[in-house]
Amino acid sequence: MRTPTVLISGASIAGPALAYWLNTRGWRTTVVERFDELRDDGQNIDVRGAGREVARRMGIEDAIRAASTGETGTEFVDADGTPVARFAAGRSDSGGATAELEILRGQLSRIIVDRTRDDTEYVFGDQIVALDDGDDGDDGVTVTFAHGPTRTFDVVVVAEGLRSRTRSLVFPGVDAVRELGLYCAYLTIPRTADDTDLWRWHSAARGRSLSLRPDNVGTIRATLTFLSDVRGLDELDHDAVVTILRRTFADVGWVAPRVLSALDDAPLYFDAVGQARLPSWSSGRVALVGDAAYCSSPVSGMSTSLALTGAYILAGELAAHPHTAAFARYDAVVRPYVDQAQKLPPGTPRIANPRSRAGVGVMNTVLRIAASPAAERLGGLRSKLFTPPADAIDLPTYPTRPSVSPARAGGQQ
Ligand SMILES: Cc1cc2nc3c(=O)[nH]c(=O)nc-3n(C[C@H](O)[C@H](O)[C@H](O)COP(=O)(O)OP(=O)(O)OC[C@H]3O[C@@H](n4cnc5c(N)ncnc54)[C@H](O)[C@@H]3O)c2cc1C
Repeated sequence: MRTPTVLISGASIAGPALAYWLNTRGWRTTVVERFDELRDDGQNIDVRGAGREVARRMGIEDAIRAASTGETGTEFVDADGTPVARFAAGRSDSGGATAELEILRGQLSRIIVDRTRDDTEYVFGDQIVALDDGDDGDDGVTVTFAHGPTRTFDVVVVAEGLRSRTRSLVFPGVDAVRELGLYCAYLTIPRTADDTDLWRWHSAARGRSLSLRPDNVGTIRATLTFLSDVRGLDELDHDAVVTILRRTFADVGWVAPRVLSALDDAPLYFDAVGQARLPSWSSGRVALVGDAAYCSSPVSGMSTSLALTGAYILAGELAAHPHTAAFARYDAVVRPYVDQAQKLPPGTPRIANPRSRAGVGVMNTVLRIAASPAAERLGGLRSKLFTPPADAIDLPTYPTRPSVSPARAGGQQ
């Protein structure tokens, strides 16, 4: 039988995870990444619930744990750094603002890519510019690249993240992104003696917050977050973004002066926060996976778990069914899980980023109550605040091909 082929666009989490699972099922996988090399940037991401179970089935759970950021919990502080409330890291597969499995995004990506390098063709520094599914779709998808030669694949899967460009070739005119009116600036700054292994978070009025998180490479990951109704700030150049951040956070207190003074030298990643919402995740022989299809936003703490789970299910269905049936089943199984993950608590993100001082006061009071020993005994408020619906799916089990060695298939199926 002819070996089926897939082109996957995007080499972060969803793309390499899909390649991994299709490799175990005998597909020939090619991954194209727009950047010249694997991207190491990004901060702490959570692997929770079903995503964690998929990581277990891939045999990478121990590698993730070994690369953990070492974050021991979450602490809310006021403008002079005095603790307001503290929560220990989650001890279950799903719970906690700090999940039990926290890892830097770049390190998780590398772990998965390393598991696929022997079987997957990686093409860096190129991207899709045109897709031709043919008249009847029987001959596969002909792909035109910006640089490499035109090639044909049985299936193409877009794993390009929230702002995917290829998605607009597949669904022209569809506005897939629901902006949440929140901007995030991520910086890596030197660690000092005052830093701890807690995720420390300060909410200031006017919808601004500032947080510091530990990592496993001896630096500190700082995040500056602010609400804004102005669209397109993420398209400004570096200097303009730095100017906005300095003006916005000048009076925030706590470690703001230290973080703002690092802006000239620190690696900076600035993005608008949003969700991807589409009525369908496929068209013809082309499908979407991960953030390109159903980003739930960093606010949900679920995007990486959705990406891992979605990749596992898409691969399982593609290996078992012709693409049309496989894409329909993928949608049917994953969509209810996505719907729950994308349902953010009412008022999010505004409720966690109050506009007024009084709002900050109310938020801190709620956090104090949630962190109190009485709330710990009752449990309910805390789990409402910090436990996303990471387990809200029954993970199917898919047969692997007999020719695949247990080591490559990751053990448990
Ligand atoms: C550099 C970076 C930093 C991040 N930092 C954080 C963070 O700090 N916190 C957080 O919660 N989430 C972060 N994320 C998002 C997080 O990785 C995802 O929410 C989640 O893990 C799902 O991943 P994904 O693979 O679906 O998409 P993404 O992780 O967004 O990856 C998409 C990949 O596709 C590539 N790509 C984009 N366009 C094209 C194209 N046209 N052709 C080929 N390749 C393309 C990108 O370069 C990237 O490698 C970051 C993502 C990236 C890419």
